[in-house]
Amino acid sequence: MPGRSFIERAVECADTNALRMALYQATRDAEIAAITPERVFGPTTDAIVFSDEDTALIRAKAVEYLLSEPDESALPVPSRDEIVELLEMAEARTLGPDDLIMRHKLPAFSDLPYQAQWHGEKVIPEGYHVAIVGAGFAGIAMGVQLANLGVPFTIYERRVEVGGVWSINTYPDVRVDTVSFTYEYAFEKKYPWTEYFARQSDVRAYIDHVAHKYGVYEHIRFGSDITQARFDEPTQRWTLTVQGEESVTEVEANVVVAASGVFATPRELSVEGVSDFTGQIVHTARWNEDVEYAGKKVAVIGNGSTGVQLLSKIAEKAESVTVYQRTPQWISPRTNYGVPISDELQWLIQKMPFYWNWNKYVAGLATIDLRNVLMPDAEWIANGGQISKRNDMLREILVGYISAQVDGRQDLIDKLVPDYPPMTRRPVVDNNWYASLTRNNVELVTTPIARMTDTAIVTSDGEARETELVIAAVGFQTEKYIWPTQYFGLGGVTLEDVWTAQGAQAHLGMTVPGFPNMFMLYGPNSQPVASGAGLPVWFEVWTGYIAECIVGMLEKGRASMVIRKDAFDEYNEQLHEEAKKLIYLMPNSAMEKNYYVNEFGRLQMNAPWNGEKYYELCEKPDESHYDFTDAQ
Ligand SMILES: Cc1cc2nc3c(=O)[nH]c(=O)nc-3n(C[C@H](O)[C@H](O)[C@H](O)COP(=O)(O)OP(=O)(O)OC[C@H]3O[C@@H](n4cnc5c(N)ncnc54)[C@H](O)[C@@H]3O)c2cc1C
Repeated sequence: MPGRSFIERAVECADTNALRMALYQATRDAEIAAITPERVFGPTTDAIVFSDEDTALIRAKAVEYLLSEPDESALPVPSRDEIVELLEMAEARTLGPDDLIMRHKLPAFSDLPYQAQWHGEKVIPEGYHVAIVGAGFAGIAMGVQLANLGVPFTIYERRVEVGGVWSINTYPDVRVDTVSFTYEYAFEKKYPWTEYFARQSDVRAYIDHVAHKYGVYEHIRFGSDITQARFDEPTQRWTLTVQGEESVTEVEANVVVAASGVFATPRELSVEGVSDFTGQIVHTARWNEDVEYAGKKVAVIGNGSTGVQLLSKIAEKAESVTVYQRTPQWISPRTNYGVPISDELQWLIQKMPFYWNWNKYVAGLATIDLRNVLMPDAEWIANGGQISKRNDMLREILVGYISAQVDGRQDLIDKLVPDYPPMTRRPVVDNNWYASLTRNNVELVTTPIARMTDTAIVTSDGEARETELVIAAVGFQTEKYIWPTQYFGLGGVTLEDVWTAQGAQAHLGMTVPGFPNMFMLYGPNSQPVASGAGLPVWFEVWTGYIAECIVGMLEKGRASMVIRKDAFDEYNEQLHEEAKKLIYLMPNSAMEKNYYVNEFGRLQMNAPWNGEKYYELCEKPDESHYDFTDAQ
């Protein structure tokens, strides 16, 4: 047991609201219950603010409580009603039924909050098998569901390790840009993240840890690229073509789950003369330890999340860096970005009953109401505002931030402030990017790139800048879901054909008419615009839905299920109507250069609802939406 001063430091590092909630849940202390924090209107959400006296009281009581060496396992898990009471206290507001469809699960009190279950007798015919394509966050979550249910499965992974994007991307300073406490599965409690925003190696190690702990790892076949999958109507099974390191084989599966990631296929640098360039060109997703930038004339093309993340590290050692920016981004700071989690806080997360749960919940509150920032307010606009009170407030704060970061340099401010509203594109997190632009060895170029020569990049004004290394931070072919694997459904139609004609669409982001027993994870329009839950929790939700589908088919003796065209159409019509209410599709939202919107002018990445509404749709499969074929 550490001493008092260690514990005092620990509570000082803790989030005050999470500490209060954990303490109250464990002790039901009336004095703690009487504390009423203020909700202060903010740019993306209201902040929950405690007075100094209340903060001191919470900390003092927490220290005494921790000195009593509490044991979480001896305390009761709260009922749903108790959780609701606690949620209202945590948010300092009353919550209605529409707020409580998913929210009560977010603190993750149960062991496996989104795990599918057998409803009756467990029946698995001999030879029954599920194939999962990809061993990233999504594929491992699917494996955990099936391992827990005892359904046989294999994960096919083309690489030699798990992790997906967290195995692939190793460029300088790569890390998460959503706080680690929300970028984790809800079933894996109290993982000791080393930083508030985990580094790539930490996330890869986490996925590896989960794969081992939950009995998934031994089901992975590495070095196995699925090039093709074909549904066979007579057998109602899929045949998958597996490209191994040395041979091509075929395997059969009853169900196929594509967990192949949206950020798997790098966008190639498309510049006239690129093949004449004699220096080195590296896409950020192909970064390796042989890439040498120290002392070099470097070009960084792109200012999305990746380009912004790596610039400051490159600029520290390169002779010069030219940053080529096509469209300015809204780039914002994050509290505790790059900061290690102290030993004291690590200890508190492990020892303070329920702190992990409330810390996770409170971390998610930053995004739970984000949809409000995405909805234009007609009255506000009629009165001279641009989007809404919050969105305009956010713009003002970010413009001030840009100005402060570049020391008020008007030449840079003019190039950096976007002409479209904040939040219309994926928010980019600042890793000293703006400040790096003020270095003597860094130049920001906004004149479009015209071509490349053997040694230089030439912009449309004719200026040639000598370049030795080009870092292509140009992103991924996000519109090509689960590409290049060819999925042949009923009648030999490929998914690619269907999507080329109408853009990528799916029912709940998971199923497509004509493709029986095929499910996808992180598919089109799958991540809700605001939910308070990080993507890993959504992987649990979607995999829970898919696992329920599998269990349902097994229990009812069905060989296959396929989404009905009418259900698919109705869902997608509603989705696109709902999406029209959001700023993504407004004329001034830089739509044409925004991977949130596809070439058909439709929202592509996100589900337009908030998490509660979307969770209601995908908590459990609705059988009336599917056609079934009975097993022979
Ligand atoms: C650099 C970077 C940083 C990111 N940071 C964040 C963040 O901070 N927060 C956040 O919420 N999201 C972030 N994302 C989004 C990220 O994609 C998801 O959070 C998540 O990791 C996706 O997991 P996944 O399993 O769906 O896909 P992936 O991680 O891409 O995994 C897919 C796996 O499938 C394998 N695969 C693909 N096709 C085949 C095939 N045909 N045969 C065999 N194997 C195949 C791939 O090799 C890969 O291992 C980031 C993305 C990138 C690229």
